[in-house]
Amino acid sequence: MSDNFYMGTYDVIVVGAGHAGCEAALATARLGLKTLIFSINLEAVAMMACNPSIGGTGKGHLVREIDALGGEMAVNIDKASIQSRMLNTAKGPAVHSLRTQADKLAYHVSMKKVLESQDNLDIKQAEVTDLVVEDGAVKGIITKTGALYNAKAVILATGTFLRGRIFIGKWNYEGGPNGLSAAIELSANLKKHNIGLRRFKTGTPARLDGKTLDYSKMLEQPGDEEIIPFSFLNDKLEISQVSCWLTYTNQNTHNVILQNLDRSALFGGYIEGVGPRYCPSIEDKLVRFSDKERHQLFIEPEGLYTDEVYVQGMSSSLPEDVQEMFYKTIPGLENAKIVRPAYAIEYDCIDPLDLKLSLEHRNVANLFCAGQINGSSGYEEAAAQGLMAGINAAHKLKGREPFILDRSEGYIGVLIDDLVTKGTNEPYRIMTSRAEYRLLLRQDNADLRLTEKGHEIGLVSKERYEKFLLKKEMIENEMERIKTTYIKPDEANEFLKKCESSPIKNRVTLLELLRRPELSYQMLAEIDKDRPEISKSAAQQIEIQVKYMGYIEKQLNQIDKFKKLENKRLDESIDYSQIDGLRIEAQQKLNKLKPESVGQASRISGVSPADINVLLIYLERERRKKEHDRK
Ligand SMILES: Cc1cc2nc3c(=O)[nH]c(=O)nc-3n(C[C@H](O)[C@H](O)[C@H](O)COP(=O)(O)OP(=O)(O)OC[C@H]3O[C@@H](n4cnc5c(N)ncnc54)[C@H](O)[C@@H]3O)c2cc1C
Repeated sequence: MSDNFYMGTYDVIVVGAGHAGCEAALATARLGLKTLIFSINLEAVAMMACNPSIGGTGKGHLVREIDALGGEMAVNIDKASIQSRMLNTAKGPAVHSLRTQADKLAYHVSMKKVLESQDNLDIKQAEVTDLVVEDGAVKGIITKTGALYNAKAVILATGTFLRGRIFIGKWNYEGGPNGLSAAIELSANLKKHNIGLRRFKTGTPARLDGKTLDYSKMLEQPGDEEIIPFSFLNDKLEISQVSCWLTYTNQNTHNVILQNLDRSALFGGYIEGVGPRYCPSIEDKLVRFSDKERHQLFIEPEGLYTDEVYVQGMSSSLPEDVQEMFYKTIPGLENAKIVRPAYAIEYDCIDPLDLKLSLEHRNVANLFCAGQINGSSGYEEAAAQGLMAGINAAHKLKGREPFILDRSEGYIGVLIDDLVTKGTNEPYRIMTSRAEYRLLLRQDNADLRLTEKGHEIGLVSKERYEKFLLKKEMIENEMERIKTTYIKPDEANEFLKKCESSPIKNRVTLLELLRRPELSYQMLAEIDKDRPEISKSAAQQIEIQVKYMGYIEKQLNQIDKFKKLENKRLDESIDYSQIDGLRIEAQQKLNKLKPESVGQASRISGVSPADINVLLIYLERERRKKEHDRK
């Protein structure tokens, strides 16, 4: 400690300028706090170390929610977008998900520029090797070159760099993603500060020279004709879209891989970290789904100014000679040249059960954690946590209540509650199936759900808020109008006949007609003479809210029940070992995790519904006692 030298004082220091760190630092700086963000290498700012895309099922929902709250990811991807597709449009709106192919370099450059232009924010290239912790609270950081920076709060967003180790076959070495250096010292020092760590791993496919591929042997996957922006701030995007390409593995591919399985880092037993179930390596897929004759592979451009392409679905930790062999068995890749080999990376991350719902660490006050370090996987998951950690670090320093989104308010709420209440034993990725109330948590209404909250926090710009209010008013007025506008049989029946929809005998409202599955809001324009001009996104809301009215009402009732337990707060000071009737396992789990509500307690594994009843009786008894004492 002694020869460290003082270099400055900040309100908040963010360790890591990846997808989590960028959102966290922008949030604290935009909320008026003097912020400093570190990256081992500033070329790694918002680096897309894996797939060149943002969004997809569940992930697109997160990006929209980040946007509605005043975060940066959606605005940034709209600047770097090279292809846009709305996924799952054959299914209901709850699972419609936007996915945008990104120019990785453009994404990095524009995010770095946003950081550089942000008031209250300094950025620095340095490796943080230790925290300064006094009396159980973080007070600053120390860098590899001896610099000491003081801070009232620190946000750790170190991604896959913490004690990073690269694996290609039996060969492995210390390293971060993409040839960058790993953060080795910080791991040991975090343990010193009573921060538990464990090993996870993830993998990425090779990058190939696109010029050496034969696209005539693949299926072109062009973008959608209608390009839908990610950010609610943008009404349209002018981009010349590039295509992705679909090809498949085959028996030859499988043979090469299965014959060399013992040489893979994973199956050769060289790697100990736990990998993501939902982003398995090709070796994993062949072992787990051995009956499958072929696996889909998507060839995705890494950007406009490079020939490198990403082979989605083919991450691996087999040695390079085997990679050469198996890529050449794939239609269109017979002459492929590998520019960057596939590899697996093992890294340290914390146990998210050690975090509060605000993402503050239970063992070190004012220390917040966000992103891959929390056991999640994915740019979008990281960015969502970064934003929330930034907001909550700011709220903590300003003496405001933590900003928590519960499971009925957003996918961000589902993500964080899953991590800190249920925990995870493998890299966690968001999916629509994880959200109980997904019909209400659609990506198309994230602005209606969250912009007001972002405004209350102080992160939503005037432009965004006014746009939101206009849209909200448009929707409310139009809903009211179609509820009270009647159509007589003689005005509608010819139109209904043309639409093969049954005639009406008495006058009905436009809303009643719109509830008919065969009629759309657009179609009804023909008989709706006084229809006002409303935006496309407002019309979409009208359509969905009317067509799913019954299901939405049912889900709203379920949420009422959910909120009842969610609003039953639990004080951190409760000693659950003193509550008679609670099972030992429940007492231990509740005392370790200190849930913030009965609802959260009910989701802790090992706490049974019977335990929750005991808890509710205890709370009622305590309430009456207090009431009695007050008299
Ligand atoms: C090989 C690989 C494969 C992946 N595969 C997938 C996948 O299949 N699916 C998926 O969804 N996601 C995948 N990802 C994950 C995705 O890249 C991450 O989820 C995402 O980047 C995490 O964002 P983050 O902000 O937490 O961390 P990162 O984006 O990793 O950023 C971490 C930042 O912290 C900085 N840093 C770290 N330690 C220090 C320190 N001590 N001092 C200063 N700065 C520091 C780094 O310089 C960097 O700026 C993969 C990542 C890698 C590397």
